[in-house]
Amino acid sequence: MHQLKYAARRKELVEILAMKGNFSTHVLQAIGKVPRHLFMDKTLIEFAYEDKAFPIGSNQTISQPYTVAYQSELLNIQKGDKVLEIGTGSGYQSAVLVELGAQVFSIERQKVLFHHTYSLLPEIGYRIRMFHGDGYVGLPKYAPFDKIIVTASAEEIPQELIQQLKIGGIMVIPVGNTMFKVTKLTDTTTEKIEVDNCAFVPMLRGIN
Ligand code: SAH
Repeated sequence: MHQLKYAARRKELVEILAMKGNFSTHVLQAIGKVPRHLFMDKTLIEFAYEDKAFPIGSNQTISQPYTVAYQSELLNIQKGDKVLEIGTGSGYQSAVLVELGAQVFSIERQKVLFHHTYSLLPEIGYRIRMFHGDGYVGLPKYAPFDKIIVTASAEEIPQELIQQLKIGGIMVIPVGNTMFKVTKLTDTTTEKIEVDNCAFVPMLRGIN
């Protein structure tokens, strides 16, 4: 019964997103597959399919579905892409990337959130590599990545992360209130495009 109710609401959410933005069916189908209610605090579960961000504890939020669709679209995920995510949070964006066919590596700096999502994701069938650490450092050991997605707002574009991108790779990152799409052209050159305004929790240094 519950599952059906959530499936119906998820379908409505996908229809709303399709009206709000110019999203590919690939991205809309991925959003249509991920049970967002399982990523939410139990007390907020009724709101899981509203197109809004919600608190997930530790002063953090689960991103708004529109934002998840938007960043996913900009990344232009291809099946098998090796993707680094900064800011695992609830794991919702990670799950959408998995549905898009990505191989996901994700870093979270908040220990409590990290442990919560580390046990949740495999339980509900999502396999990703999760790390408790500082996203400003990235994962040099596992680099290079085809794509990098940052889900917290940085002060500037971190050079460490650009270094960990493949040539031709794309990074989508909010800097202040502006979303940037960064394409690595050669070892020393990038193309940076300001794509939109946005609002994110801050990307903080160090771990907690
Ligand atoms: N992608 C998440 C969004 C969570 S909000 C989701 O779908 O739910 C952003 C997350 O980034 C928070 O959990 C926050 O703790 C984390 N974060 C902030 N700065 C970070 C850093 N330097 N390294 C790793 N994670 C960071």
